[in-house]
Amino acid sequence: MTVSNDILNKIKKSNCSHDETFFQAVEEVLDSIAPIIESDPIYERHSIIERLTTPDREFKFKVVWMDDNQKIQVNTGYRVQFNNALGPYKGGLRFHPSVNNGILKFLGFEQILKNSLTGLPIGGGKGGSDFDPKGKSDFEIMKFCSAFMTELHKYIGPRIDVPAGDIGVGAREIGYLFGEYKKITSTYDGILTGKPFMFGGSLMRPEATGYGCVFFTDEMLKLAGKDDFKGRICAVSGAGNVAIHTIEKLYDMGAVPVTCTDSRGTIYDPRGINLKLLKELKFKKRVSLEEYCKEHSEAIYTKVEDYPEGGHEVWNIPCDCAFPCATQNELTEVDARNLIENGCISISEGANMPSTPEAIELFQKNDILFAPAKAANAGGVAVSEFEMAQNAAMIRWSYEKVAKMLEQTMREICKRVHLTAKEYGVAGNYVDGANIAGFKKVADAMIAEGV
Ligand code: GLU
Repeated sequence: MTVSNDILNKIKKSNCSHDETFFQAVEEVLDSIAPIIESDPIYERHSIIERLTTPDREFKFKVVWMDDNQKIQVNTGYRVQFNNALGPYKGGLRFHPSVNNGILKFLGFEQILKNSLTGLPIGGGKGGSDFDPKGKSDFEIMKFCSAFMTELHKYIGPRIDVPAGDIGVGAREIGYLFGEYKKITSTYDGILTGKPFMFGGSLMRPEATGYGCVFFTDEMLKLAGKDDFKGRICAVSGAGNVAIHTIEKLYDMGAVPVTCTDSRGTIYDPRGINLKLLKELKFKKRVSLEEYCKEHSEAIYTKVEDYPEGGHEVWNIPCDCAFPCATQNELTEVDARNLIENGCISISEGANMPSTPEAIELFQKNDILFAPAKAANAGGVAVSEFEMAQNAAMIRWSYEKVAKMLEQTMREICKRVHLTAKEYGVAGNYVDGANIAGFKKVADAMIAEGV
């Protein structure tokens, strides 16, 4: 009975549309772009909103693989090719049990505008699977990646669609996916970004999202006439690639990042997170953050079960700047209130859409600087495009060159978003600024390309 219930639940999950997060993302964008739509009838005449919110195509496929106990496992794979007005479809792959078509549509839709904001020639897409990498052996990860690519290879190409990583997909998974693609097609094309450096990955791609988010925030503080990061206490959520490199760059800039989180709990280390230990626990050992306290008994670990009602411990800790870098809707209205009461001056989204609409509204009402994901975390996809450029030319750029280009790109995005907000009468509103600037470029390209 339990077995059939489990199977039934799995079938139900993979066959429902789960579009709530997609609607949430669309609603926010539609709100922001209302003035530009009303100011020029061309957007309506060309049905730009309907066209922009409908993916060009969506693939859903079965992924069958064998686990270490020789049991056959079945997962669902997806790729949403959303919009290629500005360049090949581009966006990550997410491997997480929460993945479904709706989540990928939300991520793919956001990706169109994010990629547009970078100013680089890339369209928007997203993909992934409900496969849970947690607790899987290296061999199982490889088997799953091979099976996933058996189907995905039909839809991608260096000038068609170039996936990368996202939650649950890092250089290891990209390496296995790349290897399988090469085996099936006998071609050595840059069909994925975030590859390990030895076979075509760009230097600084792993660091790019986190570093970029800090550069963006630094520029945002400057534009608001505030002091830089020196001595600022920062709260960071997450303990993956984005969070860890956000913490790293914050240290570089003289800030003191005091928190990190994973799916089981929060670490608060008032003297500053021990980055070396964090990297070892998460990148090498792949264990729970609870282990952190074994070496640092003065750090405080709070389990998820003990979080404040309706909120999260990490946003309960006094800080100057907050960096939600874990996942969507992880920062609620309760959290926003706590951050504001504790004197936080800026929120920068390292993850995709981590703040709920209610939280964003509170930040804006209280004049807190708020950097939305599509602007603040665009550094990852920007360096992915640099990787595409290097692969196409069969060359490698130096670390210094990529670092300089990343910093420049992030500061430029920040200035563009800031100026756009001012131009449209919503000065200081980075949500509207990012949505309008991102939308305008894609919409104008769609119009120019005809129907
Ligand atoms: N998953 C990342 C994002 O949300 C990176 C995508 C990419 O590099 O293509 O932007």
